[in-house]
Amino acid sequence: MLDADFFRRWIAAAAASVGREADHLTALDSAIGDADHGSNMQRGFKAVTAALERDDPGTPGQILMLVGRTLISTVGGASGPLYGTLLRRTGKALGDAAEVSEEQLAEALRAGVDAVMQLGGAAPGDKTMIDTLVPAVDALGGGFAAARAAADEGALATIPLQARKGRASYLGERSIGHQDPGATSSALLVAALEEASGSGDE
Ligand code: ADP
Ligand code: MG
Repeated sequence: MLDADFFRRWIAAAAASVGREADHLTALDSAIGDADHGSNMQRGFKAVTAALERDDPGTPGQILMLVGRTLISTVGGASGPLYGTLLRRTGKALGDAAEVSEEQLAEALRAGVDAVMQLGGAAPGDKTMIDTLVPAVDALGGGFAAARAAADEGALATIPLQARKGRASYLGERSIGHQDPGATSSALLVAALEEASGSGDE
């Protein structure tokens, strides 16, 4: 079962890897966007870390809802409301249980990803974070390592795509040949799940 500590480890691991990869995310966004994705994500996850320390939410659902709210209020740019919705909706779906199963988390994340698709209007193949999140959630039944592999593959698979949503879509065909920044940061969040579970170290 996954308890509140697991969710704190997940978000802490995500914040750490967003910090490490911020320059890379910004470099990807400078090719097909406005070069702010790394700093957006870093600002958001710093605020998230501070909010979790301050409020010390007690259940998995409360933790993720606080993370989502904080991302919405601190991240400028398209990715803030989208990631905020992902985490908030996932947290809401977990309810007020003190512990949840991996299956419940997979189901909740599915609801979160659906909410992102509804909010942003993106479908798989549009060269967005959805190209990472959908395959990751599909693979999650096979465990966190499988989800991570699917996420990494999904992020790489955005390279040959033409963007149909977000700022990169303004570039038309010139968006082809570049990895999507949001798909890349989504893969970091999925990888952090595996880190939190400890299976990455076994
Ligand atoms: P902005 O584009 O406002 O500068 P960011 O640079 O922080 O915001 O985030 C860009 C990322 O957001 C993109 O790489 C893409 O993955 C994601 N994105 C943008 N629009 C959408 C959308 N409508 N649906 C899903 N993801 C989106
Ligand atoms: Mg940007």
